[in-house]
Formats: sequence, C-alpha cells, structure tokens
Amino acid sequence: MSAAGNDPRIPGVRAKKSLGQHFLTDAAITEKIADAADPSPDEVIIEVGPGTGVLTRALARRFGLVIAVEIDSHLASLLRTEFGEDSNVRTVTGDVRDFSPEDLFREYGRDIVGDGRAYKLAGNLPYYVASPIIRHFLESDRKPVKMVVTVQREVGENMVAGPGKTGLLSLAVQVYGAPTIVMHIPASKFRPKPKVDSVVVAIDVHAEPLVSDPERFFKVAKAGFRAPRKQLHNSLVKGLGGEGEAVREALIRMGIDGRRRPSTLTIGEWDMLAKELA
Ligand code: SAM
Repeated sequence: MSAAGNDPRIPGVRAKKSLGQHFLTDAAITEKIADAADPSPDEVIIEVGPGTGVLTRALARRFGLVIAVEIDSHLASLLRTEFGEDSNVRTVTGDVRDFSPEDLFREYGRDIVGDGRAYKLAGNLPYYVASPIIRHFLESDRKPVKMVVTVQREVGENMVAGPGKTGLLSLAVQVYGAPTIVMHIPASKFRPKPKVDSVVVAIDVHAEPLVSDPERFFKVAKAGFRAPRKQLHNSLVKGLGGEGEAVREALIRMGIDGRRRPSTLTIGEWDMLAKELA
C-alpha cells in the first residue's frame, strides 16, 4: 500500500478550491484515462496537477517515466515521500506554466529523455486554468505527441466543436491537433463535488500546425471573435483597426459573406483571412 493510499481523501489534505482541487475518487476511471494515453513502458509522460496521486499511480504502472508538476507544495511533498527517489515518478513543485517541456526534461529527465524524444501529457486539469495550460503545451517549441486531459464538459465540447459551434478554444486546439472526447465523468466522481460534469479529451498533436503562421492566424481569429454573436465584418473592422471598405473587399475576394457569425468559419477560411488581412 502506498503512503497516500488509494483513497484521495487522505488525512491532512483539505482541498483548496482556489487551486481547482477536485480529486478523482474512482480508481477504475483513472485506469481508463491512463490507457487513453496509449502508454508504453519506454515512453515519458508529463502529468499536470497530480494532487493526491490517483492518476499518477496509474501512469507510473504504464510509462517509463512520469514527471508530475504540482503547484501545491504540501501535496508535492506527500507524493515525493510516496514515490521516493528510485521510482519512475519525479515530482516537481510549481506552476506548470512556469516550465517549458525542455526545462522539465533538462532538470528532471536526466539521462532518460534524450534530445528531441517524443513525450505525452496527461492531467485532470484545474478548472480555473485549464485552457492556458493546454495552450502552454500546444504552443511550446517541443509539443507532446498526445495529450489526455480531463476538463469541464463545456470546455471539452468547445475543444472538439466543428464549424457552426467553434470558438477561439476550438481553433487554439484544432490548429495543433485532432481532439476527441473519450469519456464522460459525472461530477459525483470527484471530492469535493464540482458544480459540473467533466469529460476526458484526447488530442493527437499534428507534426506541424495546420496554418503556416499561427501568430498571424490568431491575431485575426481573436479580432473576429471579439463579439461572437455579431457579424464577422464588424468585428474584424473593430478588432484589426482597419478600413471598413478594405475588409469588405477582402471578404468578397475570398467569397466569405461578411454577415456570417465567426463560429461558422472553418480553419481554412480563417487562414485565408489571416493571409489577406494581417
Ligand atoms: N490529479 C488529481 C486527481 O485527479 O484527483 C488532482 C486533480 S485537481 C482537479 C487539479 C490539481 O492541479 C490540484 O492538485 C491542484 O493543486 C493542481 N494545480 C492547480 N493549478 C496548477 C498549476 N498552475 N500548475 C500545476 N498544478 C496545478
């Protein structure tokens, strides 16, 4: 039996809501999440927010090395005690957004993570910061080949949404990878119980982003989505600070009706707009 046990409600641990702490209570679910990462004993995985270690244990049985980054120093020290120096789990204390994957490998991968080696990422993400954490890794110079993240249901549905329902988060994920919802988790499976259900999303990360210049692409997409329910033409003019007539002409040239809502455009259409307007 591990020091922390399999029950995440371990003595001395009170969940901090400010850090998005909702601990999974069902070990069978964590086994499925770990399997969704297509594990292999010679692979490396970064885990974001291991908390009391319920998912960490499932990952450690399947992967060669788990680098687990936890912001809560008390939980991190419990994990360090549980797993010890000789295990295949390295626990890092801090905000995961303060580390590039390269930093983590240099500091904690030692000889195991060689130059350019592929890695995966998993985490039952803290709700307050789930999207920035996903973007931190998808936009990094060294992207994971696969991510398996547990997020609020609505966030997961945004990540996988197609034209007609897309938002900025859909684009932020789909430019870099192909997301699918692999499982639903009812709120009752967490302690303390959150207000909403969760989903597990697997993202197969593309070798190259779907657009040639992501910075230019997202500049235009952000402008287009500044008023998601309004017509594209007006948002683009306001957001890019350009001439109304020039934007109107560019839209006509590309065959895009300026009265459309931003949620209806495909990634290809945004990319055309970015090339014309940015
Ligand atoms: N993995 C555990 C589980 O499934 O029961 C805990 C998941 S809980 C939803 C999110 C965890 O992320 C918490 O342990 C929290 O302390 C940690 N956390 C919150 N913000 C973080 C950040 N910026 N960087 C790293 N960990 C963070």
